[in-house]
Amino acid sequence: MTTEVDTKHPIQIMDGLYQLRVPIPNNPLGWVLPYLIEGRDGWTLVDSGWNVPEAFDALEQQLNDAGVGFAKLKTLLVTHVHPDHYGLAGQVKERSGATIIIHQRERDLIRTRYKNPTQLLAQMGDWLIMHGVPKDSMDDLKTSAMPVRAFVDPVEPDEVVWGGEHINIGRFDFEVWWTPGHSPGHICFLERAKKFILTGDHVLPTITPNISLHVQQQGNPLGDYIASLKRLEDLEVDTVLPAHEYIFKDLRGRLQSIEQHHVERLIEMVECVGDGARTAFDVAGRVKWVTGTLATFTPWMQRAALGETLSHLDYLVLEDRLVKFMENGTQYYKKPGND
Ligand SMILES: [Zn+2]
Ligand SMILES: [Zn+2]
Repeated sequence: MTTEVDTKHPIQIMDGLYQLRVPIPNNPLGWVLPYLIEGRDGWTLVDSGWNVPEAFDALEQQLNDAGVGFAKLKTLLVTHVHPDHYGLAGQVKERSGATIIIHQRERDLIRTRYKNPTQLLAQMGDWLIMHGVPKDSMDDLKTSAMPVRAFVDPVEPDEVVWGGEHINIGRFDFEVWWTPGHSPGHICFLERAKKFILTGDHVLPTITPNISLHVQQQGNPLGDYIASLKRLEDLEVDTVLPAHEYIFKDLRGRLQSIEQHHVERLIEMVECVGDGARTAFDVAGRVKWVTGTLATFTPWMQRAALGETLSHLDYLVLEDRLVKFMENGTQYYKKPGND
């Protein structure tokens, strides 16, 4: 394990497999970890980085250092379309002509999120008001994700996957595992015989990824996420290669501690709802976030906290531990039987 930031030289993990380190400027995550895999007639990159010169330069330098460059890059696999993973996809495509492969459910997000967000913004405004965001901070929250769009150079995938496919790259045989929750079409890549897995943002060594319910992610994302964690529990894996932080070994232990985190957070959410009826924004203001209190958050963080709160509240509704109801256009949560 190395914690010092070397953005010039890739780290060799085994024959034909390298870890890259691409900085995410002004972001507490620090960097994203793309992986570079040697094939028989070209190389595959997993994830890329934000679309900023500093990240592009680091990516290019490391590709060159590995003797690959853009010229020998044949494929770009994208774990999910968040800016730190997908941001440079357009540039990678332009420079290398690589085939871009993304899960179907992520492809569906590209157009509304990155290409033509007008309708998404209108929906977002209504949605924020419905969940109790005060009118005077609504605009700030609504547009808080828009600056991030600048860090994405969107490009359509050449191929989509659904999960279950095998992708053969040189000496490796990767199984595509669909792991929705953090993003609807998030995928991991399992090398069963070599006992390692590329987990993207699905499983990180110390951070729990944001699991949000929002206008583009309806249904039960927390339920999806927990199911996606459980599905990996029986895998015989020695090494976990995540997209942030560092490589680690104990996949099963980490899966269980993330599940436990959500069990505790669900209990906390019920307590935060208390005996009254509360909006999701109200509940988010009572949750003890590791990074501070809702009032001190930037609009972007507030919205992430609201989405995270909602994924837990709706999960609790499906488990009959809470009920929700609408009143004058606002949605409230309360304990069953509390009238
Ligand atoms: Zn992500
Ligand atoms: Zn990420």
